Amino acid sequence: MAGRADGGLPRVGVFGGTFDPFHNGHLAAAIAVLRGLRLDRLLVMVANEPWQKEGIRSVTGAEDRYALVVAGTAGVPGLVPSRIEIDRGGPSYTVDTLDELAARGPRSSYFLVVGADVVPELHTWKDQERLRGMVTLAIVARPGAAPVRAPSGWRAVEVPVEPLAVSGTDLRTFLAAGRSVDDLVPPAVMHGIRCRGLYATER
Ligand code: ATP
Ligand code: MG
Repeated sequence: MAGRADGGLPRVGVFGGTFDPFHNGHLAAAIAVLRGLRLDRLLVMVANEPWQKEGIRSVTGAEDRYALVVAGTAGVPGLVPSRIEIDRGGPSYTVDTLDELAARGPRSSYFLVVGADVVPELHTWKDQERLRGMVTLAIVARPGAAPVRAPSGWRAVEVPVEPLAVSGTDLRTFLAAGRSVDDLVPPAVMHGIRCRGLYATER
């Protein structure tokens, strides 16, 4: 069914992030985009080295973050954790990832999922002019960020999502302080955090 509006091309979402850790805000946004845009699948793309965070804070190892994404997306058909950026190594640039996806085929219609807080940063991304031609932005609202506005030069759609005021930054702080975050992350992610002994100290 999905894909007919694109002349039969599969509709594939790419939801990139550090996911440090994956939380209920990510999950709600991913499901809203998957369903709202009738995607065939949505790749939850775990950054290997998030260059935006380089020198700003230390980032949890990619394998740990990936394992939490696998745990948090299990049971939602259509959400597919992707380790393409981890396997490529080095800094994770979205344009390189789209090139890699295109090279692997099949030809698809790509939707790049971003929270509203990311939109003002897009002009700093590697080869953003070329990237613009490769994707349609799927923008989701984020509490605390400016209202969703399609940036000029990009094809963009807004995807309604129930705003959830949760961030990785808050979670790392709460966990380091020993506070319960059971209502902010999927139970399987909480289990993974405990088993792996993550976020026990403030960074
Ligand atoms: P941090 O505080 O460490 O930056 P984060 O919660 O912003 O963590 P990221 O991995 O930086 O998580 O974000 C990945 C993507 O998910 C971004 O596009 C971001 O806008 C989006 N996102 C994160 N939290 C939410 C949320 N609560 N609602 C909607 N989108 C979100
Ligand atoms: Mg963020």
